Amino acid sequence: MPELPEVEVVRRGLERWVAGRTVAAVEVHHPRAVRRHLEGAEHFVAALTGRTFSAAHRRGKYLWLPTVEADGTPAGRAMVAHLGMSGQLLVEKPAQPDETHLRARFTFTDGGRELRFVDQRTFGGLAVEDADGERIPQRLAHIAIDPLDPSFDEAAFSAALRRRKTEVKRALLDQTLIGGVGNIYADESLWRARLHGTRPTDRLTRAQVADLLDGVRSVLGEALAQGGTSFDSLYVDVNGQSGYFSRFLAVYGQVDRPCPRCGTPIVRESFMNRSSYSCPQCQPRPRSRRS
Ligand SMILES: [Zn+2]
Repeated sequence: MPELPEVEVVRRGLERWVAGRTVAAVEVHHPRAVRRHLEGAEHFVAALTGRTFSAAHRRGKYLWLPTVEADGTPAGRAMVAHLGMSGQLLVEKPAQPDETHLRARFTFTDGGRELRFVDQRTFGGLAVEDADGERIPQRLAHIAIDPLDPSFDEAAFSAALRRRKTEVKRALLDQTLIGGVGNIYADESLWRARLHGTRPTDRLTRAQVADLLDGVRSVLGEALAQGGTSFDSLYVDVNGQSGYFSRFLAVYGQVDRPCPRCGTPIVRESFMNRSSYSCPQCQPRPRSRRS
């Protein structure tokens, strides 16, 4: 599943290759791709045809592209995209053969590269939402600003985290508290901050929260730097196969391998139908659970 750095890579790709271009035609190849557009596929197509994408923005794992009319005035709508488990937004030459799981195609009036939405598992989707110029569509406004966003409020995050009565890993995955941190980046950030994921948030010190946020920022920043290379191939890549996964992960998926810091074998524990990875030496479990 694409996590925040991959989605930010896609946003940058869209900003570079799609913003400023006018849609000539839209094809929807699978109804599930636009199921979140409640007025239906035909309405989705009509809302975008002839409009120009003015920019590419992101909130958490959602992307939105505001549209303008031919004369440059805001069209009052934006295309919203979510990649789900397996979605990709690809910028391809028109001659490139269709992908097996092509769900939607956008051609542009300049006759250049197409934008294609490819999604094997069809958990992702596209919709057109009302939007006030470049402002975030209302439906996305509740999603927390993530730490890659320049307007992220560190003090507010710290206070909100310490007010919660939950476990720290659950809090990191709570999209209303901090945007875009998935399972992989949560585990890596907790390792950097030397915190076990079951630590109660209301017992964390300010210094521990600051360390955790440093961990989140550095992990996301490094992943973003890795993903940035995919622009060079004109390919907006979100398949999660970047070099980051093999080269930079300290704990995630590293069960029985030595902790890069202390050499203790990494352990896997079950967590919400998934797995958590940690170093039992650097990240001891909290001694007593909350009573
Ligand atoms: Zn360790």
